[in-house]
Amino acid sequence: PGVLSRRARSAELSPIAAAGARAAKLAAAGRSIIVLTSGEPDFDTPASIKAAAISALDQGKTKYTPTAGTAALRSAVADGYRERHGLDVDGANVIISNGGKQVIYLALNATLDEGDEVIVPAPYWPTFPDAVRINGGVPVIAHTRAEDGFKLTPQGLRDAITPRTKWLILNSPGNPTGAVYTAQELAALAQVLRDAPQVLVLWDEMYEEIWFGQPPAHLLRVAPDLIDRTLIVNGVSKAYAMTGWRVGWGTGPKPLIHVLEAVQSQVSSGPSSLGQAAALAALQGVADGFVETARQAYARRAQRVEDGLGSVPGLQVHAPQGSFFAWIGVGGLIGALRPDGRPIEHDGDVADWLLESEGVAIVRGAAYGLSPYLRLSFAASDTNIDAAIERIHRAVAALS
Ligand code: PLP
Repeated sequence: PGVLSRRARSAELSPIAAAGARAAKLAAAGRSIIVLTSGEPDFDTPASIKAAAISALDQGKTKYTPTAGTAALRSAVADGYRERHGLDVDGANVIISNGGKQVIYLALNATLDEGDEVIVPAPYWPTFPDAVRINGGVPVIAHTRAEDGFKLTPQGLRDAITPRTKWLILNSPGNPTGAVYTAQELAALAQVLRDAPQVLVLWDEMYEEIWFGQPPAHLLRVAPDLIDRTLIVNGVSKAYAMTGWRVGWGTGPKPLIHVLEAVQSQVSSGPSSLGQAAALAALQGVADGFVETARQAYARRAQRVEDGLGSVPGLQVHAPQGSFFAWIGVGGLIGALRPDGRPIEHDGDVADWLLESEGVAIVRGAAYGLSPYLRLSFAASDTNIDAAIERIHRAVAALS
């Protein structure tokens, strides 16, 4: 520990990866395990996108690209925002990075001084507070409530803002709850932000293409005046089942993008040339049918989970409006006894019991900053989802 910097000491291995690793260990030991911890699509990358990468490889596109990404991909990203949301942006407003995760890291690294505050609504994707800490900032956790759909309210935002607030992080559709902010809710948050001009907004819309019912509202369509202080984070990981390609992007004010580029130049240089070629093909529409098919599959699975677990006593499924996660209240199981008499004390115990008794791996809510809940990923086959539902019924029935 003596060798570690203060910043590194605040770094933690992702609890989600840890839950996955535990499940993998049990599976390796021969147990039948259904893994519902994963934050990635269970689909393969569409063949048309792979073909674009192969073609780029054959054409010798194997060299460094510009640090901020290829001009073609940056322009394609900007074109998308102009066409879909009417945003006045061009390629210079865009940086391509090794996944959206790196964009978030770069943004915090480039802007936070020691002690600067970042408002993170809870439950949150754990990277948000951890990336703040590792970059010297202080995450200010704004707890949300079930009755508000696990979304930040204007009052919650107002209460969290201080003179040291540098960023507000908003994620819609959200990981881990599947919550989607309505246009009205965004307008109300924007109104609060107008009174706090020093606050930048990190708008993470990584699950933009995965929605049920209607497409998600966009912060900058609702509040175009925030464009000079908003960084949009998105990428191909979830929409096109391209998590392993490591391509994501940030779209924001040119001076900010320029600084992110400077940091990226010393961290990693431009992202993979082949990944960028594949992402460009994706944005050019070679796999649009895939996006629609995947969306329908996720919608069907969300419904399966709601229907299947809705009748389990002690569980409360909060219907997701997007993403591929179901957020499940387990307050009704706290205090229940396992067959050996040990009580269930918190959501970690529920997750452990599901894994031990029936081999279902789900992440505990505490990992996302709110208990007692579970996050169930339904980026899994219908067969596995149905089997998991059956197993969960049995595991809960075994408690008294
Ligand atoms: N934002 C959210 C909310 C996520 O859940 C993830 C991935 O899990 C990302 C961003 C980053 O994705 P990637 O780095 O693969 O682009």
